[in-house]
Amino acid sequence: MNPLEPKEFRRQGHMIIDFLADYYQSITNYPVLSQVEPGYLRKLTPSFAPLNPEPIEAILQDLQQHIIPGITHWQSPNYFAYFPSSGSTAGFVGEMLSTGFNLVGFNWVSSPAATELENTVMDWLGQVLKLPKTFLFSGSGGGVLLGTTCEAILVTLVAARDKILSQIGIENIGKLVVYVSDQTHCAIQKAAHIVGIHSKNFRVINTMKSTSFALMPEPLLSAIHTDVQNGLVPCYLCVTVGTTSTTAIDPLGLLCKVANKYGMWVHVDAAYAGSVCICPEFRHLIDGVEGATSFSFNAHKWFLTNLDCCCLWVKDQASVINSLSTHSVYLENNASDLKQVVDYKDWQITLSRRFRALKVWLVLRSYGVANLRDFLRSHVEMAKNFEELVRKDKRFEIFVPRNVAVVCFRLLPSAVAKIGNGRVQDGHVTTEDVANEINRKLLDSINGSGTVYMTHATVGGVFVIRCAIGATLTEKTHVIMAWKVVQEHADAILNH
Ligand SMILES: *Cc1c(COP(=O)(O)O)cnc(C)c1O
Repeated sequence: MNPLEPKEFRRQGHMIIDFLADYYQSITNYPVLSQVEPGYLRKLTPSFAPLNPEPIEAILQDLQQHIIPGITHWQSPNYFAYFPSSGSTAGFVGEMLSTGFNLVGFNWVSSPAATELENTVMDWLGQVLKLPKTFLFSGSGGGVLLGTTCEAILVTLVAARDKILSQIGIENIGKLVVYVSDQTHCAIQKAAHIVGIHSKNFRVINTMKSTSFALMPEPLLSAIHTDVQNGLVPCYLCVTVGTTSTTAIDPLGLLCKVANKYGMWVHVDAAYAGSVCICPEFRHLIDGVEGATSFSFNAHKWFLTNLDCCCLWVKDQASVINSLSTHSVYLENNASDLKQVVDYKDWQITLSRRFRALKVWLVLRSYGVANLRDFLRSHVEMAKNFEELVRKDKRFEIFVPRNVAVVCFRLLPSAVAKIGNGRVQDGHVTTEDVANEINRKLLDSINGSGTVYMTHATVGGVFVIRCAIGATLTEKTHVIMAWKVVQEHADAILNH
């Protein structure tokens, strides 16, 4: 057996490309959200691994029969759930090359091109985003490609922790405070737990509907004040540009002003909305980023780069390296010893790392920044279109103003009043409770049909349906059809 025999590699590789091309072509034939029941696959698969080889043809047949039904089709043009994962030919080809080389670029010498191409694409992207020069290698900072935003948050939080503890002494770790809003991604809570921030020092600032669920500087300042008075030490603020629930935009410039007074680390989590900031008309979303310490966005969400790819920049690379560098005799080499190179193992949690820069390089070169901008704009236009359709139907409301390409909407309490009338009059539930219940039912009904897939958020106690536009294959017709589906299911529930 030769598991990397070139002839067989070529044959199977071509088969898989054909398989995927056919899949993309016929993707709308499948229900967008997988309709299987929990445990479905266990019944269809043998209990033990095969002892003897099986042909690829037989395996692909099982893939078609057993695996595909359990897949939710994130690349479907009718996928409007969570945030999209926009794949592309360039992103795929880059990933394929990376997997083919299968190198492990933990330090420069382990594959110089892997590190240097990553340096290059991070500076390219940083320039396209108009990040201040201080975030680039051409300045004093630099960028790294991680797998996910969760990692970016953990890396920056551990660097922030160690930077402060080096000044106040590690015995004071119990005094460090992390600030977030009630809309900040849960990744930060886990990261705080991992790095040993006491849960009583995890400060969650409430947001309000009247300010579109953005984190406001005044309550932040007052929380910091109280903490400082109590002898605590502000350590880290996470500012979100495009929250996961409603794409709220925290006012970055104002928040940095507050945080900078207290010497805190400010991380900007622009996981979703960072991509669109390459368009001049959206760059203002990250105005004030020069006051932040680090910035990250997920290229695997809305930047045509196949999973996984989180782009993280830091202003002060030394603070990350001081915290995360490791030394082992077996990794020693001249280039590292002479400090001539970047060793990315010191910029991340793991040692081994993938050659992610290839896919970013392919995406940027294959499409060019101009086309990438137009691609993002087209989704924003489609979202505007969807928003207008919702507005025209008086049974619905747009719950919070749309910022980018996510529309948050719901059936109004007034539209569902009839259904819950009895219970409301008996005082068992409020009209808002009924609205929540019916909107949840509406979403389940839509998703159960398999024609489109949307997800929900609960903000300020209100259940809203999110329509996130950004799948690569989505066109205007799909969005119009999606709204028709929503209306039909609403009709069925309301006239029932
Ligand atoms: C998606 C998202 C995350 C989590 O991203 P991962 O890459 O899955 O870790 C974090 N923050 C925001 C604002 C997000 O939208």
